[in-house]
Amino acid sequence: MKTFQDLGLSEKILTTVANLGYEAPMPIQERVIPFILSEEEDLVGLAQTGTGKTAAFGLPIIQLLDERLHKIQALVLAPTRELCMQIAQDLTNYSQNMANIKVVPVYGGENIVNQIQRLNTPPQMLVATPGRLIDLIERGKIKLEDVRYLVLDEADEMLNMGFEEDLKTILKTVPEDRRTFLFSATMPKTIVSIAEKYMKNYSEIMVGQRNAGAENIEHLYYYIQPSNRYLALKRIVDANPDIYGIVFCRTRRETKEVADELMKDGYDVDALHGDLSQAQRDTVMNKFRLRNLQILVATDVAARGLDVNNLTHVINYGLPEDAEVYTHRSGRTGRAGKKGVSISIVGGKEQNRISEIEKKLGQPFKKELIPTGPEVCKRQLFSMINKMEHVEVNYDEINLLLPQVIKKLEYLDKEELIRRFVSLEFNRFLDYYKDAIDLNSKAPSSKREYKERNDNSDRQSNRGEQRRKNDKGNRVRIKMNFGSKQNASPRAILGIINEVTNSNHIHVGDIEITPKFTYFDLYADQADFLLQAFKNNSNFNLSIMTDEKRTNSSSSWVARRNEKRDFAKKNKRG
Ligand code: AMP
Repeated sequence: MKTFQDLGLSEKILTTVANLGYEAPMPIQERVIPFILSEEEDLVGLAQTGTGKTAAFGLPIIQLLDERLHKIQALVLAPTRELCMQIAQDLTNYSQNMANIKVVPVYGGENIVNQIQRLNTPPQMLVATPGRLIDLIERGKIKLEDVRYLVLDEADEMLNMGFEEDLKTILKTVPEDRRTFLFSATMPKTIVSIAEKYMKNYSEIMVGQRNAGAENIEHLYYYIQPSNRYLALKRIVDANPDIYGIVFCRTRRETKEVADELMKDGYDVDALHGDLSQAQRDTVMNKFRLRNLQILVATDVAARGLDVNNLTHVINYGLPEDAEVYTHRSGRTGRAGKKGVSISIVGGKEQNRISEIEKKLGQPFKKELIPTGPEVCKRQLFSMINKMEHVEVNYDEINLLLPQVIKKLEYLDKEELIRRFVSLEFNRFLDYYKDAIDLNSKAPSSKREYKERNDNSDRQSNRGEQRRKNDKGNRVRIKMNFGSKQNASPRAILGIINEVTNSNHIHVGDIEITPKFTYFDLYADQADFLLQAFKNNSNFNLSIMTDEKRTNSSSSWVARRNEKRDFAKKNKRG
């Protein structure tokens, strides 16, 4: 294995690298650093973000700059404002031992006048989004005639974002004798043609396979009934108490809904989507970077600019249509040599897309079962115990109060003490998962299996029926905001329940319809499932009635029904 000393870096840069705590070069750095320092050619690097790309081009370019010349000598182009800022920050860190080197980012979305001021003394390195750069060139605020190194970072993203013409303009503006280093996670034809047209003899360096998912990412999927998607997500999150990840949704609406639900359920989450202003986006991203949020719910486009390392999980709240989108999403975890997990919650026909993604990734997906309630509780408990073992104890403060506390708890033995401390945090999980249902759905893979499964489920539901018939108690009464004024009928209600729960095994009894509401009985073990299924449904509101209200409502209803019947009878007779 090579060391940074083997790559031809100067003493100053080696000191910087040591200061940053980088122990050994990453694979892309091993190959790109010596190439930039000692070759003359251009470079096309196939590499994803998180592979150590910025240092791979940043360190050698910084070494090659003329510190005393205050002209733009290196230009780095990147697709988004966030990436620009991130790269500029990294390059500033990499040049920390070279006091005269200045790095300036310019990007859209910020007042151009501020940026023009920052350019009064031209920096040696400029990091820019293509659109803003063109704007500044047109205003005569930037001159590129001294550029010797041009980096196109995330070139495929720049094209995806519609910067092709801007890129071509810039490529024609910079001096011909510069060196060009193009980095891209994928190699679509347009990139090849740009490389052919605007770059000289170039070498291709590939880190990992084309479009490959990083090897240290594990790809898991859970197969569920689509109506259980949110419950499954919650259970996955609960089963991974130390999760720090992004949940990807397809649409802004879904993003908002999932984030709102998680917030209501008490998780540290926020949403990132296109409806937010730049300032709101920045706030959310910062909170996430600082780990004030454990989970970010985002659309693909909104998450594009977010560069966060150390994500433990990426969760696909549904499989994306496009295998490439999946690669991008999952590539956000497992960065910088760390392990990562990419989870997909898959329902219905989505399962058919897995093999296509597996082929593109060159890696298999592993099917996992949604953890049961007791499993989640166990994982939570051990995570808590682990945290307790590692918690920082403030001895000075605690010791002052300890004698009093010990005295108060004297009568409890060690086991009982543990039980009680643990229960403080743990009871809510036990409570929530007390009647948790199995969320796993079996995907039929052949006609035979399909038939067997249906036969089985019929048998199972018959058994369930039998059990329910024997079990006369243990019912709850549900109130639903749907009444005769909205044409409620027992048939309509059953139809709605079946549709929303995507099941026809909910057993409803004693239906009572009033002008505004409907009341019905339900076996307690199905109530949680029903309420969860309706949680994401904005048309209906369901709640469990307390015993007291239940008696009142039933009796008044029975009374009203009798009154009505008597009235009808009387009228007939009369
Ligand atoms: P990048 O692909 O440039 O976004 O880098 C991904 C992350 O890896 C960044 O947080 C870098 O600070 C970090 N990094 C880069 N090179 C090394 C290295 N040789 N050792 C450890 N971490 C590194």
